[in-house]
Amino acid sequence: MPMYEYRCKACEAEFELLVRSSTVPACPQCGAGDLDRIVSRLAPAGKIEAIRMSNRRMADRQGHFSHLSSAERSKLLK
Ligand SMILES: [Zn+2]
Repeated sequence: MPMYEYRCKACEAEFELLVRSSTVPACPQCGAGDLDRIVSRLAPAGKIEAIRMSNRRMADRQGHFSHLSSAERSKLLK
């Protein structure tokens, strides 16, 4: 049974529902049946931003040497 994420067009509540083919999904908050299915959302926006920030921090730490091989890097750092 697939689980889908929906956003209610009436009250903008977001929720997950297990959907059987015979089930017509309805908003648990206001009961409206006018829903958008959220298909391609992989992670909440806040989580994506956190991943992006940690990648940027890692790139900062590696600085401009990140494209060099470790042998070249140790030569440069001596
Ligand atoms: Zn609703």
